[in-house]
Amino acid sequence: MKRKPPNPTWNTRASTYPTFLRFAIPVATVLLAFGIKLQLESLFHLETPYLVFFASIMISAWYGGFKTSLLATVLSTVLIFYFFLHPDHNSFIIHNIKEAIEISIFLIEGILISVLSQFAHNALRKSEIKNIELKRSREHYKLVVDAVKDYAIYTLDPDGYITSWNKGAKRIKGYKAKEIIGKHFSIFYPQERINKKDPWNVLEIAEEKGRFEDEGLRIKKDGSAFWADVVITSLMDDQGKLQGFSQITRDMTKHRELDKRKDEFISIASHELKTPITSIKVFNQIMQKLSLQRKDKEFQHYLNRMEGQIDRLNEIITDLLDVSKIQAGKLEFKKDLFNLNDLTREIVEDIQTTTKKHRIIIEGKSLKKIFGDKDRIGQVLTNFLTNAIKYSPNTDKIVVKIIPQKNRVMVGVQDFGIGISKEHQEKIFERFYRVYTEDEKTFPGLGMGLYISSDIIERHNGKIWVESEKGKGSTFYFTLFYTKT
Ligand code: ADP
Repeated sequence: MKRKPPNPTWNTRASTYPTFLRFAIPVATVLLAFGIKLQLESLFHLETPYLVFFASIMISAWYGGFKTSLLATVLSTVLIFYFFLHPDHNSFIIHNIKEAIEISIFLIEGILISVLSQFAHNALRKSEIKNIELKRSREHYKLVVDAVKDYAIYTLDPDGYITSWNKGAKRIKGYKAKEIIGKHFSIFYPQERINKKDPWNVLEIAEEKGRFEDEGLRIKKDGSAFWADVVITSLMDDQGKLQGFSQITRDMTKHRELDKRKDEFISIASHELKTPITSIKVFNQIMQKLSLQRKDKEFQHYLNRMEGQIDRLNEIITDLLDVSKIQAGKLEFKKDLFNLNDLTREIVEDIQTTTKKHRIIIEGKSLKKIFGDKDRIGQVLTNFLTNAIKYSPNTDKIVVKIIPQKNRVMVGVQDFGIGISKEHQEKIFERFYRVYTEDEKTFPGLGMGLYISSDIIERHNGKIWVESEKGKGSTFYFTLFYTKT
């Protein structure tokens, strides 16, 4: 379809009249005024007023604008000058100063009316343009919002009552606009969330922060539930006063089912892989024994390397299993009191054997035992240390800091490697998140270690975070309480 560029000139009252009318108006109205004035004079012998001529100037100004009213002013001046200025003569002669002032005042007033009318026209034109733009943008907005069928888009007043409703909302939630407008949006929430006052709490957060994202079950008109992804945005006026909220909801039920199936697949696949890998490892150990008896050095070398790769494969599968357990809420912990200093030393010694380049130093000590799952905390430390080695290929120092605090201990693993830029620092704790810039893409990994670590620490009520500067290195921290929390 060939599209024309938009016409930049907007229609206003003055410009809609044809040119001949714009000049006919002053001529006709001035002649009418002239007639009325003649009548008034013959009836009442009035010397003044020229008021009828002002009426003609004003009418011309209103319908024709500046030029038209100026023409009316000039015509009126000429007529007044000739016929009415001097009561006894019809002429263009000024007899005294009074007449000169009189005609000048009329002319000035006429011009003034013309100029003012021009200002009025401009203001009117601007407000008309604004109104048209506003109307168009409202229509556009409505068209766009209504065309969106995959998202429920609706607005709320500041108290949470629904004020608008698009077709997507009707499709997803089942209510027609006239059924739902005016109802409170908590109608979409399951009862247990209403009991917890969640709908009111989320509006408070959205008002405070400007935006709130939520995922969870919502109820349709027919009572069935769907999994929703919701974004609530507060709508403020120019003075920062809350006008209401916009809500955009997406039905994620299918995505969630797909995600669940994917998680189940990962869980089954990693279980299935575990058995053959264990067998391969056993066969490898048998072959290592045989090669030792046969004193075949080359064979031994390759079997050792094979064992390294089997261990690596085992680690990946164990991580995959852990990730699927976390997803299913089935990662279990055996918590007890343990000595963090001993655990750190053991792990550092183990990891030190895997690197010739890096020197791992331990600084500080925990003053008390820690309450937690020793193996899982060891897993976090191992993850921090293997990452520190992996992501600092050009430096040789790694520092493990144990910093005792009042009722807990803080552990940090510092490297002087490639570092992580600000934008990625929170995301690296998410599932399968890896930084993929030029600096990082050569390092192997699947983005599971920190996700597992953060779940382990959070399930111990601790905190996990990173402090890092791109190109200078990173320190990964976690905190743990001394006693049960
Ligand atoms: P991966 O197996 O990819 O290393 P992790 O979950 O352990 O998975 O880490 C996630 C991402 O965080 C990594 O891909 C890497 O980009 C970044 N990262 C983790 N540790 C460090 C570190 N010490 N220095 C720089 N980047 C790191």
